[in-house]
Amino acid sequence: MNTLLQNKTIQIDGSQGEGGGQILRTALSLSMLTGIPFELVNIRAGRKKPGLMRQHLVCVQASQRISNAIVEGAELHSQKLYFQPQHVQTGKYDFHIGSAGSTILVLQTLLPALMMQSEASQITIHGGTHNPMAPTADFIQHCFFPFIQKLGIEVDFECERAGFFPIGAGQINITIHPWKSKLKHCILTKGKLLDIQGYAAALNIQQDIADRELEVLNNKLGLNQRKRVNFQGISQGNTAFVVLNYEHHQQVFSALGEKKKCAEKVAHDLAKQVKAYLDSNAVADEYLADQLLLPLALGQGGEFTAQVVSEHTKTQAEMIQKFLKCAIQIEPFNGIFKLKVIT
Ligand code: AMP
Repeated sequence: MNTLLQNKTIQIDGSQGEGGGQILRTALSLSMLTGIPFELVNIRAGRKKPGLMRQHLVCVQASQRISNAIVEGAELHSQKLYFQPQHVQTGKYDFHIGSAGSTILVLQTLLPALMMQSEASQITIHGGTHNPMAPTADFIQHCFFPFIQKLGIEVDFECERAGFFPIGAGQINITIHPWKSKLKHCILTKGKLLDIQGYAAALNIQQDIADRELEVLNNKLGLNQRKRVNFQGISQGNTAFVVLNYEHHQQVFSALGEKKKCAEKVAHDLAKQVKAYLDSNAVADEYLADQLLLPLALGQGGEFTAQVVSEHTKTQAEMIQKFLKCAIQIEPFNGIFKLKVIT
């Protein structure tokens, strides 16, 4: 890993770019990895309720715990944070968000630092597993992890209990293994589409919601396989997701049920997203694109095409280049985008 040759505190303005929680989480991940302290001001200034919410605070506290960091400003609604890591400690950890906040985003914060250690860590995180504006447990399991596995990163992941807003009470169990062999500059392609699978789950609500969603997905996408998933858990909620299996890539699209939105509409909107992706030649969708940059920057670089380049992706690229010695290039390419990470 090429870190910038400095140990000076990095100053970060949380209102830049997309102005959300990702700036904080990426700063925590990169600070733990490089040992470089940071000061973050205007935390989540771009959001309706700015400052640290519960999920963000747990990200800070969990990062503090695994890296024995010196921290100032770690309070709910705080808009300023100082974080100085000491050394990252592998082990067995249990983190409770205490709300339906996303367990997956806490995991994504801790993963980079822990996968770079020489021993494995076991982590359990309690909270939400299916949150709006965050990767769901299914997305991370069937899309993000298969991708990073190609780079040589081994993670065992289990969603023991699903957690939906407002109760949450979900649980994910993860073992993060040391990253032993790094793949050379990775050029991500997808190859031929092999099949389209549709899944839906209705937890502690009428089961026909999932069946109706699968019916619509099948009508719109011509599924090769469809399955109702039985989640465990005490919260109530509904999710549907589509897995596109390509020769060399697995892309997932997910949707969450909402009050006052009928199951047919949930599935219809999901199918529309899938179709837009199928009509483009891109490898990564909007969300996977921002999540791929860090693993590629920590490895030996790589390149891929993306359907859309969001503000998240641009901000993520800027954050990574603040801490690591690498170049991230984003350019339009035949109606889509090409992203290149050079280490
Ligand atoms: P933020 O909005 O800054 O808290 O960051 C949200 C993160 O969740 C980003 O990394 C997004 O790519 C990711 N994300 C949001 N929606 C989805 C989705 N539907 N599927 C997968 N990832 C998502």
